[in-house]
Amino acid sequence: MNFDFDAETEEMRDMVVRFAGGELTAPPEFDPDDFRRRWRLAGKQGLVGSTVPVAYGGSGLDAVCAAAMTEALGQGCTDTGFVFSVAAHLFAAVMPVVEFGTEEQKRRWLPALASGEWIAAHGVTEPEAGSDALRLRTRAVRDGGRYVLNGSKCFITNAPVADVFVVQAATAPGGGFFGLTTFLVRAGTPGLSVGRRYGKTGLHGSPMADVHFEDCAVPADQVLGAEGSGAAVFASSMRWERTCLFAAYLGAMKRVLDTTVEHVRQRRQFEAAIGSFQAVSHRVVDMMLRYESARLMLYKAARALADGSDDEVGPALAKLAVSEAAVQLGLDAVQLRGALGILDGESHALLCDAVPARIFSGTNEIQKNNVARALGLGGRPAGMRR
Ligand SMILES: Cc1cc2nc3c(=O)[nH]c(=O)nc-3n(C[C@H](O)[C@H](O)[C@H](O)COP(=O)(O)OP(=O)(O)OC[C@H]3O[C@@H](n4cnc5c(N)ncnc54)[C@H](O)[C@@H]3O)c2cc1C
Repeated sequence: MNFDFDAETEEMRDMVVRFAGGELTAPPEFDPDDFRRRWRLAGKQGLVGSTVPVAYGGSGLDAVCAAAMTEALGQGCTDTGFVFSVAAHLFAAVMPVVEFGTEEQKRRWLPALASGEWIAAHGVTEPEAGSDALRLRTRAVRDGGRYVLNGSKCFITNAPVADVFVVQAATAPGGGFFGLTTFLVRAGTPGLSVGRRYGKTGLHGSPMADVHFEDCAVPADQVLGAEGSGAAVFASSMRWERTCLFAAYLGAMKRVLDTTVEHVRQRRQFEAAIGSFQAVSHRVVDMMLRYESARLMLYKAARALADGSDDEVGPALAKLAVSEAAVQLGLDAVQLRGALGILDGESHALLCDAVPARIFSGTNEIQKNNVARALGLGGRPAGMRR
């Protein structure tokens, strides 16, 4: 296994790190207009549609190059929330259109999603259906040439700024894996409303809200995949998300690791650089070990995805490894900065941004359940593979 990038990918990586560091700096408070300004800039650089085929306005990157691009974005851009929003748009909402859309749907929806004109959100979670997503209650009832949606989604990334919602609803309640259907819904469709933006721990630059559907009529040509294929669409989007989105955290970890090494070289106590104390240097080495091993697991999963694998174990392990490494690396970086670490700075930000990574894309406990099940362990039925 060789995870070295070719010269072209290396050049793209460097360009993205420089661009993200220079152009994507966030204002101190979340500002929807500035968010969209930066989104359009990222769109011009091909970052919000990188895995969309060239024929529909994207860059046609495979999963390995997309992970490299997302990692570079995470390394250059200190607003990890913004990077998370871009990655959620691309991997959870746009890739389902690439993989399940009809030719007509791809021509209609992808160019604006790839160019930075439209922002997408993916709505699955509901107040009573978190990890057990198959039990969602949002209903879609066929009525002639349209479906009528009723129900509510919660914790939806990008909802306050979204132009397009990719929504899972039950077309056959109680129908299990084949009871769900995916819909493409434009913001502004009568009956669709978005709640207030949440305040949350970490990922401040990524806006999130509830989404409500009240007799919301969606034309039947906005069903993504066939009726009843929602769980398959969802599983595919999660493979992309658990693999490529988490590369953003690798980039953020690398940035914080580099500045931590610099800090322990510079900071002197007891007439010596603190990095000369073994308790400090070993902690730095542990940080590096976690970062490097999580990175290998992520690129291994990305390679498999690029080769067309539908394996769920590799992405689940990558998600587990990267999110746990990011939390621990954030904690270590705070500790090694002393009091400076608990001020608003990048180590504190990494810690706050990393904690939600254990929860979204299916919690880490659910990923362990999925891996255990693949090993023939764990008796309970799978439900929808969160
Ligand atoms: C930053 C962020 C962004 C998000 N963005 C989106 C989005 O864009 N779209 C969307 O649809 N959702 C989104 N979510 C929601 C996310 O997918 C859910 O939070 C997640 O699936 C967990 O559901 P829950 O919060 O209801 O927790 P619960 O399901 O209530 O779980 C609570 C705890 O119980 C544990 N648990 C539950 N069942 C089991 C079990 N069988 N075995 C072991 N442990 C179990 C969980 O691991 C967890 O620790 C986002 C969440 C976050 C934090």
